[in-house]
Amino acid sequence: MRRLNGIGVSPGVVSGRAVILIQRGHVLRYQIGERRLGSELARLEKSRERSRQQLLDIRARVALRRPELASLFDAQLLMLDDPMLVSRVADIVREQRVNAEWAVQQVFHEFSSVFEEVADPYLRERKGDVSDLAGRLKMNLQQGVAMPRELLRELDEPSVIIADELTPSLVAQVDWTKVRGFATDAGSRTSHTAILARSLEVPAVVGLHNASEVVQAGQLVVIDGNAGAVMVDPTPLELARAARGEDHRPAVGGDAERRRPAATADGVRIRLEANIEFPNDLAAARYAGAEGIGLYRSEFLLTGSSGAAITEDEQYEIYRGMLEGMAPEMVTVRTFDVDEDQLASQLTRQALADGWAVDEKRASRQGLRGLRLSLAQPEPFQAQLRALLRAARECPQGRLRIMFPFVSSVEQLREARRMVREAAGELARRGEAVPAVPIGVVIEIPAAAYTADLLAREADFFTIGTNDLIQYCLAVDRADERVSRLYEPLHPAILRVIVMVRRAAVRHRIPVSLCGEMASDPALLALLVGLGLTEFSMTSAAIPAAKQVLAEVRSDDLRALARRVLKLATVEDIEREVTAAFGRLSSIHE
Ligand code: PEP
Ligand code: MG
Repeated sequence: MRRLNGIGVSPGVVSGRAVILIQRGHVLRYQIGERRLGSELARLEKSRERSRQQLLDIRARVALRRPELASLFDAQLLMLDDPMLVSRVADIVREQRVNAEWAVQQVFHEFSSVFEEVADPYLRERKGDVSDLAGRLKMNLQQGVAMPRELLRELDEPSVIIADELTPSLVAQVDWTKVRGFATDAGSRTSHTAILARSLEVPAVVGLHNASEVVQAGQLVVIDGNAGAVMVDPTPLELARAARGEDHRPAVGGDAERRRPAATADGVRIRLEANIEFPNDLAAARYAGAEGIGLYRSEFLLTGSSGAAITEDEQYEIYRGMLEGMAPEMVTVRTFDVDEDQLASQLTRQALADGWAVDEKRASRQGLRGLRLSLAQPEPFQAQLRALLRAARECPQGRLRIMFPFVSSVEQLREARRMVREAAGELARRGEAVPAVPIGVVIEIPAAAYTADLLAREADFFTIGTNDLIQYCLAVDRADERVSRLYEPLHPAILRVIVMVRRAAVRHRIPVSLCGEMASDPALLALLVGLGLTEFSMTSAAIPAAKQVLAEVRSDDLRALARRVLKLATVEDIEREVTAAFGRLSSIHE
């Protein structure tokens, strides 16, 4: 047995045969079963023919204007029939039983290293041609492919996914009754993939650094989401633990206890709402005792579908269903928080009615994202706003709030509010007057936190998104496992920024809640209450434990703790103080 240590981000112990997925660099590697071999080779052949046709077309077009350049494409056309290239790709598919994209990639690497060694500059230049051709073949392979999620559906045995990294869109689409859990090289507790794993109750371990290289496809593996470990070729004892299922669902308590609102021992009411990713999560949220939905990550609507565009009417039905399901409690819908990385995924793009443009080379989580993207490409945003407002109109017993992600200036909030008015105006013209809906801002960019007093004048409520706020304040990419140790919710800067945002909201008499993952750690939650916050939104599974801890503490003790903590200079000192008060912190910042 070999044990790999990482970060347990979603509890539970499961076993299964490893399916390896390599996603980095947008090239996936997955195993092809005996049955699929023929169709995989046919797919490769089709891609070759499509590539040939495209190159001939390009050649003809270039020949019209610059005949001397047309021959440049002859090299690529010749390569298409070179036995060292496509035939070699087919051999790799056959021998290693891998998908064609991966085999193209491998052959391209082999070729590149050969070209790098040749002295002749003309020949070295040909590397560019091979790269171009490899890109074309891969692009053409994408036409009508069976995505890995479909292949994963065909698994015969209980399996687990071992990947270098997993995108939230793939996690959202896997059939988790067939795949029992996953482990990834990259990732941290607050990455969306980890958040989804908890929401789907799929045991998961991330931050393993090299599991996708160490584990071989088909090897038996145990994923222990409680201990944050992966056992390769596990002992019979480990397998037995996995077979018992090591119940990972938190004890939820009896009906009365679940419905009891959260309060501290001295009676200060604390509002606990749920963060959800899918409309179907409403039931779990209610069951856990959530008093509303504090954050619905609506962008997951764009990843879970079959790839067809999601229309305004479809969205309207979904939002109305959520409002009805949660009435009379509040439902706070965050408008699409898509980043260009996600947009680079074909599926997400297709799911957007108007096909948002994306610059794949410049894809970044700090670029065109969230509200910025919505403002830059307003059509899908307008459709979402209309759908939301129509839902609010048709479900007067529900309470909708709309919230904008990734706001960095007052101007953006004004512009977004103008778009809400425009959507309402459009509906009024259709004879569907809509009610006023509170409009809020996710405070998750330091610029928004520092101008919270200005934003508070024009927003109806704030939600502090600490997942992003921490990463941007501390300059620590929340998905990058190499710096995850620096991701510190207890950094003095973070505590001060939270205090500052709360103060601005209180001064302007608008509600403020906190929806980052840090609220689901009971000790951190208690400290946040000490800092003066009384509204939180968290993953449903964390609500029962949060209630229990709050019921055992007094608000004056928490305030005293917060006062002491705010004077401390280092994370270590703060952590010691909080731990002394509540015991060990969970590993949010591992
Ligand atoms: C946050 O940034 O804290 C947040 C709740 O949103 P997300 O994790 O979806 O970015
Ligand atoms: Mg965020």
